[in-house]
Amino acid sequence: MKVLVINCGSSSLKYQLIDSDTKEALAVGLCERIGLEKGYLKHTPAGNDKIVIEAKMENHEIAVSMVINALTDKEHGVIKDLSEIDAVGHRVVHGGEKFASSVIITDEVVNAIEECNDLAPLHNPANLIGIRACQSLMKDVPMVAVFDTAFHQTIPAKAYLYGLPYEYYDKYKIRKYGFHGTSHSFVSNRMAKFCGLDINNSKIIVCHLGNGASISAVLNGKSIDTSMGFTPLSGLIMGTRSGDIDPSIIEYIANKENKNLDEIMHLLNKQSGISGMSGVSSDFRDINKAMEEGNEQAQIAFDVFVYRVVKYIGGFVASLNGVDAIAFTAGVGENDPKVRYDVCQYLGYLGIAIDEEANKVKGKETMISTPDSKVKVAVIPTNEELTIARETVALL
Ligand code: ADP
Repeated sequence: MKVLVINCGSSSLKYQLIDSDTKEALAVGLCERIGLEKGYLKHTPAGNDKIVIEAKMENHEIAVSMVINALTDKEHGVIKDLSEIDAVGHRVVHGGEKFASSVIITDEVVNAIEECNDLAPLHNPANLIGIRACQSLMKDVPMVAVFDTAFHQTIPAKAYLYGLPYEYYDKYKIRKYGFHGTSHSFVSNRMAKFCGLDINNSKIIVCHLGNGASISAVLNGKSIDTSMGFTPLSGLIMGTRSGDIDPSIIEYIANKENKNLDEIMHLLNKQSGISGMSGVSSDFRDINKAMEEGNEQAQIAFDVFVYRVVKYIGGFVASLNGVDAIAFTAGVGENDPKVRYDVCQYLGYLGIAIDEEANKVKGKETMISTPDSKVKVAVIPTNEELTIARETVALL
């Protein structure tokens, strides 16, 4: 089956056309600056160069029609016509407590996703726009929603409730939801196979360290805790997000800097984290370079990041009552040996030993712990699009 995987943001749309039999992406691409004066579609057919088409895309429907044109184009297309697309899999950020697994999209499902808009005001409305745009252009093609939150719906109440008056959970469903679920699910399963563990009898910690970053504790294949919470702002230090802070800081900054709530949320989401702490960049490649040049602020940002990861791992080892395997994934986890090495240096108490040569790997499934390490540690590249395609095929 050929599955078009769509990840729709407010002004962007990422896509991959995946052949679910070969697991290969036939084409990948991205529409940027939707709704703005000058937009781009970047389209890369497998094994060929990227092409960039400049065009004004007034709305997401026009962006989707450009994607279809790119996929079916005589020169850089990868399919003859639309009829070759068997299904569409949509990434949806928030499924609230309604969705503990992926679902075939019906009118009721669209309404239920809409009801979760309040919980993810930046993401869910954009995801819905993408769904509706595809529905109007591909009327008879079945579509599936795959939720970032679904995998974490197995987290028990003792881990998902905040220390707030219970009525706020009752009335507004304020609780930990967790995100990156598709990645945590894929990577924990892959890690079990890679280490020869039975997933149904395993304790795995997944460190998804990208621009957005989260860690999860996976017991017997089910998420029992994760570092992100009600929103993707909490937990680890991220590229531009603060992660956990004392909530009273918000009031303090408001008073000192005369900022309103919107401005402070912007500060915490976009100007904090590695970028805000280092004053250099949100990108670990730039941070590594700055550290090599002796930039102390970059070094401290890096150290704070590593230390937070270590604390979450330690907490989740306690939650799991032990750990069999730790997986590193996403942009930083897959490509930054120094992050992995520094994290693991703290974990000697678990009997973890790292093979420094193996740890030089970038972006490839590799065991980086030594054969006598008590806990297996590996790099497992994530593949959220392939997981969405697989879920889509499984449901249909
Ligand atoms: P997201 O999906 O959250 O946008 P990714 O998982 O794609 O993020 O991760 C992107 C980040 O990965 C970059 O911002 C950068 O910090 C990091 N990264 C990518 N390549 C490398 C590399 N070669 N070395 C170190 N860090 C890298």
